[in-house]
Amino acid sequence: ALRAGIVGLPNVGKSTLFNALTAADIPAENYPFCTIDPNVGVVPVPDPRLQALADIVNPAKIVPTAMEFVDIAGLVAGAAQGEGLGNKFLAHIRETDAVLHVARCFVDDDVTHVAGAVDPLRDVDIIDTELALADLETAIRARDRALKAAKAGGKEEIARAKLYEALVAHLDEGRPVRAGDWSEADRQRMYELHLITAKPVLYVANVDENGFENNPLLDTLRARADEEGAQVVAVCAALEGEMALLEEADKAEFLADLGLEEPGLNRVIRAAYRLLGLQTYFTAGPKEVRAWTVRIGATAPQAAGVIHTDFERGFIRAEVTAYDDYVGLGGEQGAKEAGRLRLEGKEYRVNEGDVMHFRFNV
Ligand code: GDP
Repeated sequence: ALRAGIVGLPNVGKSTLFNALTAADIPAENYPFCTIDPNVGVVPVPDPRLQALADIVNPAKIVPTAMEFVDIAGLVAGAAQGEGLGNKFLAHIRETDAVLHVARCFVDDDVTHVAGAVDPLRDVDIIDTELALADLETAIRARDRALKAAKAGGKEEIARAKLYEALVAHLDEGRPVRAGDWSEADRQRMYELHLITAKPVLYVANVDENGFENNPLLDTLRARADEEGAQVVAVCAALEGEMALLEEADKAEFLADLGLEEPGLNRVIRAAYRLLGLQTYFTAGPKEVRAWTVRIGATAPQAAGVIHTDFERGFIRAEVTAYDDYVGLGGEQGAKEAGRLRLEGKEYRVNEGDVMHFRFNV
């Protein structure tokens, strides 16, 4: 499963957010692809379309799709030189597919700030510098190897050496790799380095209950994210933490009191899901209505493979109905009668929300 790592300076609210995200007790047997590790949380992806499908199919159960979040604590200034818990944590970030960068945008004198005053831009810079330094080390080693290989090598070795020299220069200025303008070929070449600052980033602004509007700290973070073409999601982690512990009925009341339709966490989860380049397709039957995750661009056999590798190997065809058609036409039968249920082959690329049924040989 793809996972997002949660980073940020100490005391900005990472653990509070992680605990809120993972408070939902979800039956692990539904998610055999997910990791069992205390720092890794398996989090259901909220999706109102599941209920709409269930209203038509009346299944025995509804199973949302899930994604993984990792709490990466211990990142402080000097981590790249082994300060704090240093390198171990950098290694954890390397294994993630995207980064959620939590920044503190609330003032509370009872919560100590590791660097003195509250200043989200400085905080973000401290973390970015550490991550860029860690990547710089990686890039220097890769460059030295590549330069040797280029002496005796061909075109590809020379292209690689040139790229890695450019990477070293870029990172040496403390700039994240994602901010650079690289060709697709060069991105491919960099992939094997697992560079941390090449991963997509979502900023999570941890604000106070009243800090969603007229909050200059949040505004400065938004301006920074805009420059980078990144997104900001504002949440109040403390409030989300309290809410996550409530029973469903109490949660609904709590939200209504705040004038909200859903927990702020849902926005974080969905934004992280998009950041990872993921999309959802559905299966719908009397046993279960279920959401499954594939990468954007996945083919029908790859989608079948998410359910079971046998489905991918023996793939024959997929019956596909767009979500809007399925719901609008009252389900599979209606879609079929209206000619909206399609038979698709191996080359078909899955669309967001497709309702699918696979035919396969075993
Ligand atoms: P971490 O070190 O980044 O994991 O930070 P924690 O999640 O442990 O939070 C640090 C402190 O900030 C704890 O005392 C939290 O209760 C508090 N905190 C977290 N989120 C909020 C928030 O939204 N508002 C306020 N006022 N305090 C918060």
